[in-house]
Amino acid sequence: MKQPEKLKIIDEQLIVPDNPIIPFIAGDGIGPEIWQAARRVFDSAVNKIYGNDRQVHWKQVLAGGASYQESGTWLPEETLTTLKKYLVAIKGPLTTPVGEGHRSINVTLRQELDLFACVRPVQYYLGTPSPVKHPENVDITVFRENTEDIYAGIDFESGSAGAKKLLQLLKDNHQIDKVRFPETSSFAIKPVSSEGSKRIVRAALNYAIMQKKGSVTLVHKGNIMKKTEGSFKKWGYEAAAEFKKQVFTSVEYNQIRQKQGKIAADEAQLQAKKDGKVLVNDIIADNFFQQSLLHPENFDVIATLNLNGDYISDALAAQVGGIGIAPGANINYQTKRAIFEATHGTAPQFAGQNKLNPTSLILSGAMLFEYIGWNKVALEIKNAVTIAIEKQHVTVDFAAVLPQATELSTSGFADYLIELITKRD
Ligand code: NAD
Repeated sequence: MKQPEKLKIIDEQLIVPDNPIIPFIAGDGIGPEIWQAARRVFDSAVNKIYGNDRQVHWKQVLAGGASYQESGTWLPEETLTTLKKYLVAIKGPLTTPVGEGHRSINVTLRQELDLFACVRPVQYYLGTPSPVKHPENVDITVFRENTEDIYAGIDFESGSAGAKKLLQLLKDNHQIDKVRFPETSSFAIKPVSSEGSKRIVRAALNYAIMQKKGSVTLVHKGNIMKKTEGSFKKWGYEAAAEFKKQVFTSVEYNQIRQKQGKIAADEAQLQAKKDGKVLVNDIIADNFFQQSLLHPENFDVIATLNLNGDYISDALAAQVGGIGIAPGANINYQTKRAIFEATHGTAPQFAGQNKLNPTSLILSGAMLFEYIGWNKVALEIKNAVTIAIEKQHVTVDFAAVLPQATELSTSGFADYLIELITKRD
């Protein structure tokens, strides 16, 4: 057996050894039990595809409640150092510390490692209970900006020195009349930069080109917040223009339409589609919510700012069966650092019961294997999940609404996936 090694970057490429060391954070609440289940599924899929030639060496690192109990810190420096050093990691859900001065560990991790892209592929697995008539029409990958916007954490409480200074600034700029109750208002600042906007849109475009997706849609509230969300849209189109022959943007469409009319513009767009170009367009966020419910098939890849992306990811996930199965990743495509994670929380009231669904973490693992280029492993995992749901061998969350289903425990579901993986030719 080869020595375990860490992933490396050579000439800006991620180099993955046959025996990579990959750190994991098991997480809090139901985290440890879903991690144990997921890990067994990952190892079984790797073994099925590569036999003894390849094996992942999972390296535990601490964060969250487990870390707080052991060391008094929610996110030890050693954990950050390890995550930086080993580049790619996976995590279960973490308790958000409550109280003054505490930040969400997830937000801290994303900011400390500058994991600017929160990537959420939302697709339907046949048989999953869904509240909509045609969940199979949803196949949308969301690229949510992770480091800016209203989530940057620049918050000033009503009456604080910061809030007073901001009020003064507004008075000096003759904008104080825009604040309905100035003396009792809290304030938050929403930074949106050209670099931040362009790198998330580039990431979405690269993904769309690689995965041969039809379109990238910039979702924004630029009609109201012209200087922040409006600039995001403008910078997004500027980033798209860098991709020249690989994309056809709404800006180009409108230029043709103005000069040569609608028929010519429609024809140019159709030709671009035939040539395999990615169509780049934009939509106002509230309209997106409506359209993605009515016509989800019109969207392939979404690029958006942090707050919009937060709502959009969960709303889309609900269409295909809820966050219990939706996977996610936080990625910096420049440094190649990435953390793959379950998108739900710690569900503390179910901790230790071996009951809930480990699929979100399992599919996040499939994303990890795709990211490191072990595509066959990812496919093996996704196939097993597809078959299990089709055959209605599921955990309680699905079984509760599927009368014919066979209800499995968390570990029982993992056993079933492993059986499918090992038995399939
Ligand atoms: P939650 O996601 O933990 O639970 C809400 C409900 O969703 C649960 O009661 C359960 O019914 C259902 N659910 C969650 N995970 C499920 C699964 N795997 N299978 C089936 N059903 C599942 O949200 P919450 O109760 O608001 O948060 C609990 C804690 O988790 C808080 O401390 C919160 O801050 C944290 N949190 C962490 C993350 C993360 O680490 N990524 C995300 C969200 C919330």
